Amino acid sequence: MTRPIWAVFLVAAVAVTATGLFALSATGVFDEAQSGQAPTSSLPTTKPAGPTTTTTVAAPTTSATSAPAATPGQRTSVSAPVQSPVGRTRYVFPVGGCRGDASESHHDYPASDIFAKAGCRFVSPVDGWVDEVTRVDGWDGTTNVGRDRGGLSVSVVGVDGVRYYGSHLSAIAGGIRPGLIVRAGQTLGLTGKTGSARGTPPHLHFGISWPTSPGKWWIRRGAVPPQAFLASWLGGGQLSPVSSVARVRRAYGVDRGCRSYC
Ligand SMILES: [Zn+2]
Repeated sequence: MTRPIWAVFLVAAVAVTATGLFALSATGVFDEAQSGQAPTSSLPTTKPAGPTTTTTVAAPTTSATSAPAATPGQRTSVSAPVQSPVGRTRYVFPVGGCRGDASESHHDYPASDIFAKAGCRFVSPVDGWVDEVTRVDGWDGTTNVGRDRGGLSVSVVGVDGVRYYGSHLSAIAGGIRPGLIVRAGQTLGLTGKTGSARGTPPHLHFGISWPTSPGKWWIRRGAVPPQAFLASWLGGGQLSPVSSVARVRRAYGVDRGCRSYC
């Protein structure tokens, strides 16, 4: 007589415990899914609020023309997108349709100022995808804040895993946005004198670096001397900066922020 009643309580207790465990488990899974999603949803807001609007990768999965490496987390990877079926490594000089005279040196850090008329085409030097786009010129000569010096700018990560950056643009080409696949020779913007180039002849500031997380302008502006590559591409050559970038990257070590001309 007592045994069936005890058994009923036992079954009930097991059921309650199981429900509790299930609930805990379900909560745990939910939390994990939430935290897993967090970096994705926070990515587009990496740039501190300010006069410069620098957009970073924002859900580039919506269009067939978006990068296959549409997962934002893969954007800064050197290796993953290189396997993209759409790209091939072919280099072109980054100023199209105009004469461009590349400077042999650059103040403070490696880069080249390619002097060309205003309104010339800044083209992607290689197949790849758009990295960062700065659409608003927030530079102020009285403060000369480092992140704003480029004015309007576009960076591209090539299928070779190298990042290419052009700044002082007068305009960004229509449709250019982070994550967009671009081809070598495709127009990214037009040359100009925005940012700290305001008082200079129009030129394209051109920098070569390795990909980083968004907003690291002190690397994006140029870390490897581009002159030899520019000279090659201008003459139809195909000199690749891949090994130079890898070597400088190793020597650079841990990034602790801007080191010079900050
Ligand atoms: Zn420059």
